[in-house]
Amino acid sequence: MLYNEPHPLEVRVLTRRFGLPNSQSIDTYLATDGYVGFRKALEMPPERIIEEVKISNLRGRGGAGFPAGLKWSFVPRESPKPKYVVVNADEGEPGTCKDRVLMENDPHQLLEGMLIAARAVGAETGYIYIRGEYRYIIEILDRAIEEAYARGYLGRNILGTGMNFDVYTHTGAGSYECGEESALLESLEGKRGQPRIRPPFPAVSGAFGCPTVLNNVETFCAVPAILRDGGAAFAALGTPRNGGTRLFALSGHVNRPGVYELPMGFNLLRMIEEVGGGIRGGRKLKAVIPGGTSCPILKAEECDVAMDFDSVAKAGSMLGSGGVIVMDETTDMVKVAVRVMRFYQHESCGWCVPCREGTIWLRKILERLDAGRGQPSDIDLVAEISRNMLGRTFCPLGDAAAMPTISYVQKFREEFEARLPKKVAVETPLVVV
Ligand code: SF4
Repeated sequence: MLYNEPHPLEVRVLTRRFGLPNSQSIDTYLATDGYVGFRKALEMPPERIIEEVKISNLRGRGGAGFPAGLKWSFVPRESPKPKYVVVNADEGEPGTCKDRVLMENDPHQLLEGMLIAARAVGAETGYIYIRGEYRYIIEILDRAIEEAYARGYLGRNILGTGMNFDVYTHTGAGSYECGEESALLESLEGKRGQPRIRPPFPAVSGAFGCPTVLNNVETFCAVPAILRDGGAAFAALGTPRNGGTRLFALSGHVNRPGVYELPMGFNLLRMIEEVGGGIRGGRKLKAVIPGGTSCPILKAEECDVAMDFDSVAKAGSMLGSGGVIVMDETTDMVKVAVRVMRFYQHESCGWCVPCREGTIWLRKILERLDAGRGQPSDIDLVAEISRNMLGRTFCPLGDAAAMPTISYVQKFREEFEARLPKKVAVETPLVVV
């Protein structure tokens, strides 16, 4: 199983069972307070469960950071339609691999989170929408689901309470776009994975047109601890409005890359130095992408920041999915921009013009700059095309491609200029082929 050795600065709430023998089994889970939170939830009125999640200040861990309890409260309980709980396990943001370790090491924690959500909104069916590349984790989840049925935690009349809840794994086909919640629902329903126009939001009209609680793996995995220890205890681990801990996937030019569970608001420079063991080879820090490649980059001097949603936003970027990519002084920012744009261009679903055409255009201009064949006007053109994509697309992928690109050009302009041919006698009109 994949997990790194615990670091003394970690606060292990969601990862507390990592490293235990047979951490995936229901016996280990039950022996370590497993399903305690769900048993408590069974004694509580549904509104009280949602209230506890609100108190915890748990914000969605998929990227947007929307308060989870508030999201759950939008599900209309009086609706005669069936209700669903859907887990977004499509983890496709480059630099992010924390849902993977949660499912791999402690699958019952996810099932317990789903059960508590189901109890809170009155759902009887749950789906785990998981990316196809995680084939071996699907097997782990399916085994855990089988165990939960055998022990009476899933199925009909759960623990004799009259509650019914069935869970199914559903495999995606490796599309980044299906990590966007409405595209995920389309894919779950067997359609092409393209986003829906919202409103209505999934809480009101989600899976199969029915009210749906849809959250990321890490969000659901935090819920058992909230019910077990109380929302206030979870909130106290983090900062105001940013409760609990966060799993950070620390990668790039650090000595000890890994997935670390740290309190919300942990300082980014400390994370790099003390948790990650500093920059490899004793080099200097150049920049950090703090939350996956869709987030604007931070220069070294901007990295003295608390890693919570509000503080990172104030610093001009986003906490995103917790994928912290560290870059040392040898990093070529033009190549970073090209690599990131190749990804977004490849993953664009092609539905709306600014994203479909903009990402292709940006990729070609950036490649041309990288090859030393750019024109002086290309640098501003990259920024202008990106700005024209912002807020003009059906889903956030357009912004995810544009925002980091603007930051690369703004913050490392001299590197783009250094790539221009030394003598450009006559500037020719732009022709993108
Ligand atoms: Fe598809 Fe891109 Fe438009 Fe999203 S922004 S709907 S990925 S074309």
